[in-house]
Amino acid sequence: MAIYFGDIHNHCGITYGYGSLQNALNVAKEQLDFCSITGHAMWPDIPKRNEKIAFLVDFHEKGFKKLHDNWNEVRNTIKDANIENEFITFQSYEMHSSKYGDHHVLSTSDDLPLVYSKDPSSLYDDLHDYQKIIIPHHIAYTPGYRGINWDYFDNIKSPVVEVFSKHGCSISDLSPYNYYHTMGPRDGRNTVYEGLRQGKQFSFVASTDHHAGYPGSYGDGKIAVSANKKTRESIFTAINNGHTYAITGDKINCNFMVNDAIYGSKIQHTQKRFISLNVTACDFIEKIIVYKNLTPYKVIHLEDFKLINKNYRKYKLRIEFGWGKSTTGYSWDGNISINDGEILDVETCFRGRSVLAPTKDMADNDNINNLDNRLIEKSTNNVSFISNTVKNPSPVHPLTNAIIVEIKGDEQTELKLFMNNKKITYQVSELIKGVKTCHIDEYNSEAFSITCISDDFYEYSNHWVDNINNAPGDFYHVMIKQVNGQMAWISPVFLNNI
Ligand SMILES: [Zn+2]
Repeated sequence: MAIYFGDIHNHCGITYGYGSLQNALNVAKEQLDFCSITGHAMWPDIPKRNEKIAFLVDFHEKGFKKLHDNWNEVRNTIKDANIENEFITFQSYEMHSSKYGDHHVLSTSDDLPLVYSKDPSSLYDDLHDYQKIIIPHHIAYTPGYRGINWDYFDNIKSPVVEVFSKHGCSISDLSPYNYYHTMGPRDGRNTVYEGLRQGKQFSFVASTDHHAGYPGSYGDGKIAVSANKKTRESIFTAINNGHTYAITGDKINCNFMVNDAIYGSKIQHTQKRFISLNVTACDFIEKIIVYKNLTPYKVIHLEDFKLINKNYRKYKLRIEFGWGKSTTGYSWDGNISINDGEILDVETCFRGRSVLAPTKDMADNDNINNLDNRLIEKSTNNVSFISNTVKNPSPVHPLTNAIIVEIKGDEQTELKLFMNNKKITYQVSELIKGVKTCHIDEYNSEAFSITCISDDFYEYSNHWVDNINNAPGDFYHVMIKQVNGQMAWISPVFLNNI
């Protein structure tokens, strides 16, 4: 089994978003294993048009018609982008629903028709000839305002629920990433925890819900899937079986099992449970909580992690770059080389221009996110890349990009970094003491930082035996939080009387 990362809910100019479909696919290939690009298709109970909401109603109806008129071409472009074992695509489209909450269809069929049904559940039924699921998303909006309605939830039709996206985090009232979009605040009646409390059994996914054609945009949500192979059938089967988890941005790698059954499994209840957890994070692990029936069962803190003496170790170097004051884009040309060490892995954290819904002042622009963020070269001692960043919209809303390089080495291992006109060299012994920063030019110019972490602080594994107060219907899930704010929510294992 391998873990694959994707984005199965995001938008572009095929409906009322921005940016070309082809560019969205190119961007997705750069940092994802699989994706779907979702067309907004319908809103059966759309509010009646009046002066106050004329713009809203009009851009939706225009977008739905655009998708309808180009559906064959959209489907064919997505079909052609699917290359088994390399990059996987799915067909998808979305229904808004004031009463039942928004859902998107995800299908393996390149013949998937656009069907106009009265509600999400009927849409699933009306597509009876096609392999598909329907996924509720941004579920925590106010009831009646496009939040989920748990009374109508069906886990056969919806084995997974989107728990995080650009809209925010829907897990519980206590989760970070509250809702701040124009659609309104997060409501405790419609959270993931409320659904689980009511006995609904489902798995967690995240996706960006990006509206300007940048699937996988860093920090906006991704789905992780444990699958046999990188094929459409294998990844869909894994999603349908719920073997998924949600991440915000960093590709946190997690294996969580109860009685040897992976996250998302529904297994026979036992009196004694064997729980195992393996995590490889991408930054300092701040906290891991293993929950049993939504109550903390094990809590692991940053303060529990210690540097262990060993001959060589692994490190993660994060080169984060951006800042400055450019609104049109600043181009980066970077090269990272390692002496007396070896590069094991490289991860990109690229973002697109952030758009969540059309506004009156935005014009159609196919190239809004044609940013050319990409790795140029990757070997055991060298990585080069190009990228484009704009200024951060506020000091607490970063639009920086980053490259994470995992290396094997020791304190003498040397990092040589070229970032445009700047060249700097550090030994790991220096970097490990704390973050180093560098500015490209005078005050307010672009800048970059280097963070170096030893594996003792980003890897964790443990196992436990739980034989206290156990009953059928128990379930266990995991939350992982890094110091940089990036998170993962690992789907529950449910122990039922089968
Ligand atoms: Zn959407």
